[in-house]
Amino acid sequence: MRLKLLATLMAIGFAAGTAQAVVTQQMIDNDASETKEVLSWGLGNQGQRFSPLKQVNVQSVKKLVPAWSFSFGGEKQRGQESQPVIHNGKMFVTASYSRIYALDAKSGAKLWKYEHRLPEGIMPCCDVINRGAALFDNLVIFMTLDAQIVALDQNTGDVVWKEKIEDYASGASASAAPLVAGGLLLTGISGGEFGVVGRVEARNPKTGQLVWTRPTVEGHMGYKYDKDGNKSENGISGTLNKSWAGDLWKTGGATTWLGGTYDSKTGLAYFGTGNPAPWNSHLRKGDNLFSCSTVALDIKTGQIKWHYQNTPNDAWDFDGANEFVTFDMDGKRVGGKADRNGFFYVNDAATGQLLNAFPFVKKITWATGIDLKTGRPNFVPENRAGDPTASADGAKGKSVFAAPSFLGGKNQMPMAYSPATKLFYVPSNEWGMEIWNEPVTYKKGAAYMGAGFTIKTLNDNPIGALRAINPKTGKIEWEVPNNAPLWGGVLTTAGNLVFWGTPEGFLKAADATTGKVVWEFQTGSGVVAPPVTWDVDGEQFVAVVSGWGGAVPLWGGDVAKRVSFLEQGGSVWVFKLMK
Ligand code: CA
Repeated sequence: MRLKLLATLMAIGFAAGTAQAVVTQQMIDNDASETKEVLSWGLGNQGQRFSPLKQVNVQSVKKLVPAWSFSFGGEKQRGQESQPVIHNGKMFVTASYSRIYALDAKSGAKLWKYEHRLPEGIMPCCDVINRGAALFDNLVIFMTLDAQIVALDQNTGDVVWKEKIEDYASGASASAAPLVAGGLLLTGISGGEFGVVGRVEARNPKTGQLVWTRPTVEGHMGYKYDKDGNKSENGISGTLNKSWAGDLWKTGGATTWLGGTYDSKTGLAYFGTGNPAPWNSHLRKGDNLFSCSTVALDIKTGQIKWHYQNTPNDAWDFDGANEFVTFDMDGKRVGGKADRNGFFYVNDAATGQLLNAFPFVKKITWATGIDLKTGRPNFVPENRAGDPTASADGAKGKSVFAAPSFLGGKNQMPMAYSPATKLFYVPSNEWGMEIWNEPVTYKKGAAYMGAGFTIKTLNDNPIGALRAINPKTGKIEWEVPNNAPLWGGVLTTAGNLVFWGTPEGFLKAADATTGKVVWEFQTGSGVVAPPVTWDVDGEQFVAVVSGWGGAVPLWGGDVAKRVSFLEQGGSVWVFKLMK
């Protein structure tokens, strides 16, 4: 006993003595207010992407200049959607093709690189991207395109543990930044276009050992694991066949591909879920829970405390994967979500009760609004593509023109919320699509969609718009239009600034109150990643990853043609004020 205590004291002394404090849960919990480091995806687990820093502000931002830039190098470029994290003087930044770099945060000097060895047969739906790493203790942890989790030593880049989430040959992959909350590593999974079943997994971040799993398709069993890895049942998600007919729930999609947020006030982790599989909605009558929803999980038990479904019986690939960002409104803890389906939702963070819902894009054809009493959309039935079995040859159902397109009023690019202005800053897009249904049967590792589509521009106007949205009134306070569709995230600061990137290559800053663009910098390739900020020795830094790609050039139809002149890249840029 005494020996054990001595060993513990020595371990603590060692950690303190080296002045290289490891990342604790408490540090992560304080990430939103502590400005010297960036320890989580979202600058805090609530995902507000608000920094209290104000050295760089509306007045001083004109003096913001590059401090350094680093190239990811190699022949591998494609989409770079990563948010860097900063700890102990090091920046950890992931790149396309499941790569991660450790850089000196002050000088940009490369400390180490880890390139995950990817098999030939990976099937990421939407480019070979990665959205960032998590930090815990001495580890930096990220997910890979072959559906693994890799934990590396922050100082050496050596692999400490590695766990497989799912067989990549089923179409599973992983690209979100993991979430560390309540001492657990919480991760999701991608692959909804292949019938992969969504789930949230909780692990011991030090060892990778599973603690619980919670499927996000109704009918699947959740499990918990003891210290020796023994597995036991932890209750079925929902009620078998209540919202799914037949066996379709077995390959029902609803993947948790963007990861989650967490609020220590409610003790709940919020994961968005993707489309139900297949896309052809006539094959799966019913609401198809918990697809296209926000699910709130009690992280202690792995149970779904509440769910709210944004698009019941989805027929447009309106993944509800987007981030649920908690904030205070009228003295209540609530959460905001800008859904792919074009509506912005405000739900009670503790109960899920719908408090407000309004459009944040101009053209929505699939519903006339959201009924605040029932919480359900008022569908436009004729905007659902037809059943192929009703057509003459059974090969193709009636095509419809629907807006938003399946790439969404908003997609993976995370929005920001400012407690100072009480506004959300939402990267949004205006576009539509032709969509029709086709017959389909499930085959492992094959696309499981049963639909065809072409994304269309609505007119010659700009597609993108950064919008400042009042969650209480639903009013768009201001917007900055952008010719190409916006695909990068947002940062807002107490300097009354909003930072965001464009596919045309600019990192921009606007006055958070008026929307006046006050600064921009050309990064050399399209920006499809969220910026971050931190300060060291009295200097504020701003960083963003640059590298055009992601889903738009791959899936964008007529819009892809409009942006085909944009060049790929792969670098991280860091800025500070000129002295
Ligand atoms: Ca989808």
